Amino acid sequence: GESVTVSEFAGMIGIKATELIKKLMMMGVMATVNQHIDAETAQLLGAEYDIEVETKTVKEDDLLPQVEDDPEKMQHRPPIVTVMGHVDHGKTSLLDAIRETKVADAEAGGITQHIGAYEVDHEKGKVVFLDTPGHEAFSGLRARGANVTDIVILIVAADDGVMPQTKEAIDHAKAAGVRMVVAINKVDKPNANVEKVKTQLAEYNIIPEEWGGEYQFEEISAKNHVGIDDLLDRVLLESEMLELKADPDRPAEGIVIESQLDKQKGPVGTVLVKKGTLRVGDAFVVGDNQGKVRAMFNYAGKPIKKAGPSIPVEVMGFSEVPESGDSFIVTKDEKTAKQVASMRHDKKKEKELAERSKVSLNDLFDRI
Ligand code: GDP
Ligand code: MG
Repeated sequence: GESVTVSEFAGMIGIKATELIKKLMMMGVMATVNQHIDAETAQLLGAEYDIEVETKTVKEDDLLPQVEDDPEKMQHRPPIVTVMGHVDHGKTSLLDAIRETKVADAEAGGITQHIGAYEVDHEKGKVVFLDTPGHEAFSGLRARGANVTDIVILIVAADDGVMPQTKEAIDHAKAAGVRMVVAINKVDKPNANVEKVKTQLAEYNIIPEEWGGEYQFEEISAKNHVGIDDLLDRVLLESEMLELKADPDRPAEGIVIESQLDKQKGPVGTVLVKKGTLRVGDAFVVGDNQGKVRAMFNYAGKPIKKAGPSIPVEVMGFSEVPESGDSFIVTKDEKTAKQVASMRHDKKKEKELAERSKVSLNDLFDRI
């Protein structure tokens, strides 16, 4: 909680820090002026000086909003989809095809995608696609133990079949417990062999519905924009079965999926809202930093005032550039956000210090 350093504690009980350090040494505790002391040590010191020390542990959870999911308030949210597959099997082409056929004509008239995610308004509902660069892809599936993606589109080129990264994608999706829809791509190619791909995937227990399995397959040509609508239908069908729901009426929680230092905007990050509604003006803690939402932009770069569950937004107002994968939690005010951030910061530093002293102790033992 609000822990105390040696010098702060000395000040509280009205003695010199150096004296307190001596006392601690006699108690067998080696400490420096800026070191934090734990509640137990504070109690022992209190006993030494005949002062009653009252300790209270404030935990992060006491400061963050604790909202139980209320079934009455849960509402449908759009599925968050990631495309995975072997290199050159058509991930980028598919994401482009979906964007070009489903987004471009709508509001933006040929928008250039602004952030690593976009929204599609298909006739049967909204779908959110993640399109984060390779090095940040890890946070596209799972971050800090939580699923980011609801559905994976596993793309396999019909002329190439199952390859090492196809297997890797299957393993990742299965480990994360994320449902897959299979897109067999490049069916326009003369050497396309759809049946072979199905047989290969069956070896990994990915069996199409028409063979009695539980996976939806769609044959597509990303390059020729063939099968895109049908693939989206399948994604939405899959999403219906998952019954994705969230309470939009609570403080927002989300995950940072990408971040950068923008020349004009300062530190910015794309946040995927998982619960609640994020609003301009909200204070938040993110990793061991904090901030206040100064402005938000949607996938097309349009300023927006609020964003509900599943919606990706670019957020301005971070104290520092956040890390992708960081959790993002709205707090009741800025003071609370700062308090939680500093608790997390202290914890991280203590851990680093402990690691370092372990190393130096080992060095010492190596030398003697
Ligand atoms: P990624 O590495 O998975 O992102 O694959 P890309 O989307 O970059 O595609 C790799 C290559 O395959 C490019 O030259 C594409 O033009 C080509 N390609 C993608 N989809 C199709 C398709 O449906 N048919 C054909 N013939 N080529 C495709
Ligand atoms: Mg690509």
